[in-house]
Amino acid sequence: MEKIVSLCKRRGFVFQSSEIYGGLASTWDYGPLGSELKRNVKEAWWKAVVHHRDDVVGLDASILMDSKVWEASGHTKNFHDVLVDCKQCKKRFREDHIKDNKCPACGKTDFTEGRAFNLMFKTQLGAVAGENSDAYLRPETAQGIFVNFKNVIDSTSRRLPFGIAQIGKSFRNEVTAGNFTFRMREFEQMELEFFTSPQDADKFYSQWINERFQWYQDYGIKKENLQLREHPKDELAHYAKGCTDVEYRFPFGWSELEGIANRADFDLKQHADFSKKDLQYHDQINNKKFYPYVIEPSGGVDRATLAFLVDSYHEEEVEGKTRVVLRLHKALAPIKVAILPLLKKNTDIVNLAKNIKKELQKSFVCVYNDTAAIGKLYRRQDEVGTCYCVTVDVDSLQDKQVTVRDRDTMVQDRIAIDQLQTYLTEKLKY
Ligand code: ATP
Repeated sequence: MEKIVSLCKRRGFVFQSSEIYGGLASTWDYGPLGSELKRNVKEAWWKAVVHHRDDVVGLDASILMDSKVWEASGHTKNFHDVLVDCKQCKKRFREDHIKDNKCPACGKTDFTEGRAFNLMFKTQLGAVAGENSDAYLRPETAQGIFVNFKNVIDSTSRRLPFGIAQIGKSFRNEVTAGNFTFRMREFEQMELEFFTSPQDADKFYSQWINERFQWYQDYGIKKENLQLREHPKDELAHYAKGCTDVEYRFPFGWSELEGIANRADFDLKQHADFSKKDLQYHDQINNKKFYPYVIEPSGGVDRATLAFLVDSYHEEEVEGKTRVVLRLHKALAPIKVAILPLLKKNTDIVNLAKNIKKELQKSFVCVYNDTAAIGKLYRRQDEVGTCYCVTVDVDSLQDKQVTVRDRDTMVQDRIAIDQLQTYLTEKLKY
């Protein structure tokens, strides 16, 4: 894990937030490469869950919502972690993270009584502080979807089964921090609420578990590092009919990437109760009104991004030296093509390289780099997962060809400059 954290900082994937002030706990900033990678992860999810399907639409709800939303959803009352302190080493833990009643830090078994701690961040709306102006930063994106259920039906004429998807920031005042970007106080979620008739809920629950398990593999995560964990009955929320986590084998152990839950009709019923609005679905064919069931695949952008980084990290011996390479899926790699001049003092080579970049960057995310010798430049691009390096040399000026090097095989092809676009388009297809 240290290697990943160090690479992330050194190469500009992830920085500690507010680092020059000593760093703010459990908050992280994505640097130039990290922000590209995270965008690509979100894009891959949106494609699979929205664009490549006929039955899902998108939504972008606001972070601030009426505080009644959180009363209806149960968050005001129940969104607690129960915390205990180890009386020996004084460290604080989530009660549900303690195994065999042993302190994870010192191994002793002497804890304080558990205390509930609400995870929502409270803030105020408007200038006058007081009961009515209290608001919360949303702790999940899902509720923005439920409160817009009727708006989406009315504006799109969708019939069941259909889903509403959303990607956005969520905030939780996590008390047990750590493990890099795995647990943050401000993070992004990718959530889908898939509405179905109660009769079809089990079928879609299984389907979505399979779809989401497959998605991580489609984007390069090795199957042996993924597992499904079905929640036992006593772990389920009282309304839930089932929940299965997709877990990844992180260096710190198997941990949740995403949860897929059958939430039954709890959420819409709650919001109907609290808002006094009719949120039932009208089945016009059978002229029946009912509350749909909801299947919810709920994943974390940051956890997925971290898993893709960890899983793609490779070290190998090449000519007696260690080559670090991020074998990221082409769709996720932050940089698709690096254009490298062999001699940075030769202005003809430099100009040609810069012109090639100008053309290629219309189609692919490209960088130009002339700050080191070619061997070093290749290593630097390998380390951040750049798919192809295009090298412009003295011969390129005469034969109008360049060398294209593949990140994974390190095989080099000589390609005519006027064929480069076609060649790379083919190679970068996914
Ligand atoms: P955990 O048990 O690890 O706290 P959770 O079960 O509370 O997670 P959910 O409420 O199901 O998480 O949230 C759905 C997804 O959102 C999680 O699977 C995870 O990917 C992501 N997520 C939740 N909390 C955080 C966090 N603090 N930092 C980063 N991602 C998070």
